[in-house]
Amino acid sequence: MDDRLTPNRDELEAWDREHFFHPSTHMAQHARGESPTRVVTGGSGVYIEDRDGKRSLDGFAGLYCVNVGYGQTKIAEAIAEQAHKLSYYHAYVGHGSEVAIKLSRMIIERAPKGMSRVYYGLSGSDANETNIKLIWYYNNILGRPEKKKIISRWRGYHGSGVMTGSLTGLELFHKAFDLPRAPILHTEAPYYFRRQDLSMSEEEFSQDCADKLEQMILAEGPDTVAAFIGEPLLGTGGIVPPPAGYWAKIQAVLEKYDVLLVADEVVTGFGRTGSMFGSDHFGIKPDLITIAKGLTSAYTPLSGVIVGEKVWKVLEQGSDQMGPIGHGWTYSAHPLCAAAGVANLELIDELGLVQNAAETGAYLNKSMREALLDHPMVGEVRGEGLLTAIEFVADKAERRFFDPALKVGPQVAAATLARGVIGRAMPQGDILGFAPPLVLSREEADVIVEATKGAVEEVAAKVL
Ligand code: PLP
Repeated sequence: MDDRLTPNRDELEAWDREHFFHPSTHMAQHARGESPTRVVTGGSGVYIEDRDGKRSLDGFAGLYCVNVGYGQTKIAEAIAEQAHKLSYYHAYVGHGSEVAIKLSRMIIERAPKGMSRVYYGLSGSDANETNIKLIWYYNNILGRPEKKKIISRWRGYHGSGVMTGSLTGLELFHKAFDLPRAPILHTEAPYYFRRQDLSMSEEEFSQDCADKLEQMILAEGPDTVAAFIGEPLLGTGGIVPPPAGYWAKIQAVLEKYDVLLVADEVVTGFGRTGSMFGSDHFGIKPDLITIAKGLTSAYTPLSGVIVGEKVWKVLEQGSDQMGPIGHGWTYSAHPLCAAAGVANLELIDELGLVQNAAETGAYLNKSMREALLDHPMVGEVRGEGLLTAIEFVADKAERRFFDPALKVGPQVAAATLARGVIGRAMPQGDILGFAPPLVLSREEADVIVEATKGAVEEVAAKVL
């Protein structure tokens, strides 16, 4: 091997700062060496280990994706076996591998009722890009060329491409990128804790969200509104379960104006809420579903759009008029990724991980509430399945938030990490989020709660 490519420790760090453009990173601070470089070298169960031998309990499963935990040999072996047998062939013009066909069958068997076909990509972003194109294509086939607008929600997260970054409703992902682009619109976030009118009940707030959606559709013209996209449970926008009655009221509006519903299940798909899909968990009947992360537990990249019967029938009939669909990626249904998907879904069943997400998730959320809800800096502890968030406030009685410049959320995340546990400071607001691997045990949940409690006390002593 070329000696110049076996760096020592310091060289590796220098190369990182000089050559590696990290996503979602403060570029200048990283280049100047002001922010830490962490070189992760291994993982087992819910723990990762870095090159200094430091272990951390990964309370965010990477980016809420390593659902079966690290070091699962069943998946590693399935990938290796497939690589020996057939590392690649494309899926264009009716081609496919056995594993991709098998995986499609497994996904449809697990998906909410009425789902028909799976289109594969490699990331949540590209899958939502596919959704947008399918929605436009569908309306063109139906002879409704004006019906193209897509309504998303403030604080929604749907990716960071041009169109999917537009769907995303977070400031950081728009700023200086000239986003959002037309024809994307944003409506109220289903975020009860941050409601303007504190006198509203949850049901009243949900009704208000549905009313605002209806007003937007009417103002734009129902003939111009094609679809609504939402995560069953708001994820990156703050880990916020929907308020009571929300999805029933929203779906009533969508049905009234013939607007398609896309459930973005990139986080909630395959068990995280304690049900196989968030749509089933919250009574949602989507026309299209976005999947990624938990589909392979990130052992390989793989995403998909699950297309419901209603949309599929139109697309299928449209082919006689349009010819083959002009949409495809080289790596659609890549055999190595499909092999990881099959092994991962089998493992989720074998280990009973959906059930564990429900049970250990309920335990984690309850323990976190008991440990922190009375703390003066904690405004809310919320969650569902293995998703938990703690939102910090400067004044609890008045629900007054901290000045963002104080970076209370990142401070608590840093103090939690110093105690050996990874949580995520969510990007908008002072919120610490947890989404651990679905293999989490009660003892490991206790470790997360203890570390968080200590971290909150440490930071509160500085900022309150
Ligand atoms: N949709 C949701 C709900 C997500 O949480 C994410 C990523 O976190 C995406 C889409 C985008 O996925 P990716 O980062 O794989 O493009």
